[in-house]
Amino acid sequence: MSTSGIDRYDDLFWRDEYEPITESDEFLQEIADKADLPSLLVAIAAATGDTAVLTEDLRPPLTPVDTIGHPHGGMSEAQQHKARELALTGLRRLRDERITSVGMLSDTAVTDVLGYLTGGNADWSDSLKHELDLAEDKSAAPDWRFEDVAEGRRFEVLIVGAGVSGIAAGHRYRQAGVPFTMIDAADRLGGTWQKNHYPGVRLDTPTFGYSYSFAQRVDWPHQFAEGGEIDDYLNTVAERAGLIDLIEFGTRLVSSRWDDEAGAWIVVTRDAQGAERTRTFQAIVSAVGQLDIPNIPDFPGAERFRGVAMHSQEWDDSYDWRGKRVAVIGTGASAYQIVPAIYEEVASLTVFQRSAPWMLPAPTYHDNHSEAFAWLVRKVPYYGQWYRLWVITQGIPGRFHTVRAEKDWPGAPLSVSATNRKVRDELIARLTEQFEGRPDLLEIAVPSYPPGAKRMLRDNGVWAKALMAESTTVSTHAIVELTETGIRTADGTHHEVDLIVYATGFKPSDYLDGVEVIGRGGVEIHEFWKGDARAYNGITVPGYPNFFMLYGPNIGGVVAGSLHFMLERAGEYSLEAIREVLDRGVKALDVTPEALDRFVEWVDRENRLMAWGQPYVRSWYQNSVGRVSQVWPYTNAEYWKITEHVNPDDYDFLP
Ligand code: NAP
Repeated sequence: MSTSGIDRYDDLFWRDEYEPITESDEFLQEIADKADLPSLLVAIAAATGDTAVLTEDLRPPLTPVDTIGHPHGGMSEAQQHKARELALTGLRRLRDERITSVGMLSDTAVTDVLGYLTGGNADWSDSLKHELDLAEDKSAAPDWRFEDVAEGRRFEVLIVGAGVSGIAAGHRYRQAGVPFTMIDAADRLGGTWQKNHYPGVRLDTPTFGYSYSFAQRVDWPHQFAEGGEIDDYLNTVAERAGLIDLIEFGTRLVSSRWDDEAGAWIVVTRDAQGAERTRTFQAIVSAVGQLDIPNIPDFPGAERFRGVAMHSQEWDDSYDWRGKRVAVIGTGASAYQIVPAIYEEVASLTVFQRSAPWMLPAPTYHDNHSEAFAWLVRKVPYYGQWYRLWVITQGIPGRFHTVRAEKDWPGAPLSVSATNRKVRDELIARLTEQFEGRPDLLEIAVPSYPPGAKRMLRDNGVWAKALMAESTTVSTHAIVELTETGIRTADGTHHEVDLIVYATGFKPSDYLDGVEVIGRGGVEIHEFWKGDARAYNGITVPGYPNFFMLYGPNIGGVVAGSLHFMLERAGEYSLEAIREVLDRGVKALDVTPEALDRFVEWVDRENRLMAWGQPYVRSWYQNSVGRVSQVWPYTNAEYWKITEHVNPDDYDFLP
């Protein structure tokens, strides 16, 4: 794999050359039959330079996806037939003309390709160009260098956290040559992916929607990557980006105080030995993550329990759970992965369910990518990257249409609209099939809230299978206390266990918990927030100059969009904000309270229209004052629009 194209192509995984196609027509026909057609047609068009194959009549209709995705974006049989013929002709051409590479596309070709993939929705194009290396105006990497705009000026940034967001920001800051120090409290990078190594951990969104625009790995083995694969990926990215040696591991941010006079943050960090150090930075980028502070319920008697207890994120690999009596508390995304991974090897398993999860069908959840897919990414130039772009394109509208609430909908509180009820009925039909012969389990498996009101899981039947196993018990009674040997529930049952797994989630609304951030006027940020974390574009907070949050409040998409896009954009926006400061020769910029209020009002309005914003719904999407402070209710394309440029009208500039 060559990296020689890095400067021209904004991709740490860029390949100049692909393996030549040498196979027979029959083999190519098989490939055309198995390929994702929109991705393949676009790949052929780009590699041959002939976008005429992307005709209007072959545009995938992008039929709205209620539960299970539609192959080829919902193309009709007739469209698929014609597309396969064109694909076969194209594959033969790549073979016969020995086309093994692809280069920059003309603006017209980019328009043709994006017009084809988006069904002509020009509104999405700019956000998609952020992901497309073959577009000359891929506007993701900085087009400026620190020394060109601020030669000789002391300006050092502190990036806090070396997880998914911190790595993205570090890469862009390094490209711009902005001096920075990166710290992470852990002794390894990877954030959530180095912390979560419980049995069964893997992505619950498609792998191809979960990577950086600047590091487009395409040879992923699994359709939903295992946790270790993401961890390896992040390490590889950090290494290729030259970041690893720049990270101070075992270093925690303790406090930061803005000094108006100096125009800088006075920062205290603590190392693994507890030694504190005070230093000065002109800006802070907080990339501390969101689902990171374990929520461990305060059950009476917890200190009495003599067995082993651990939170899913704090899994102790040295403890052998096999053959033990195990309790798993919680039925969210983590429990959903742990339970099927362990149930066959434990002596007994008791699952404590407070509310049942909705699960979207994902029949291939544990599957590898097919051999045909592996062939395509090796031999058809840029096929894997086109496939990634296509996954991201389909993720723009995502499933918003299934969670938007109809006014005065009579089906509440079980559904929020006719489409939502249709989804509910479809998912219940699946559960009915899965729990055949176990009406007791079916009864408790059907959630009593609308689909989408809480995060939906991906299901290929393993959850039901694990719950139906002879050695598994599901308890829906409230836990009243822990004893020396187990868990007592409200029905009076005592469950004897050796291991308690708290799969009880996190405290996502406690942004910057454990860190003191004192802004202008001496106000600590948590005092400013009063339990309701708010940030303009999820990034900046009035009174906290040159302080940028990545994965801040209201940034997480839950039924649509790419999280990496959101996090990368927040990092790139912070870099552009710093450029504004440097260009203007001022000390700092500080977002106005009006801009923040406007933003919060805008996201609140939309969140209130969603399943998760209904007054009868409670989930981790809401904070302690009941506002939905975690969720981004719009599309990636909308986030592109609001972060494309730093609007000076929204900021005060501090001389
Ligand atoms: P979660 O979704 O918040 O689930 C926590 C579970 O614990 C819920 O079932 C909750 O019940 C239950 N619970 C909490 N307090 C309880 C109590 N006092 N008594 C009984 N039950 C209690 O947490 P998670 O499963 O760790 O997942 C959190 C988020 O992390 C996910 O939504 C997802 O965004 C992310 N995640 C992603 C992946 C992935 O991509 N691979 C994997 C894991 C997690 P209620 O529902 O009634 O509150």
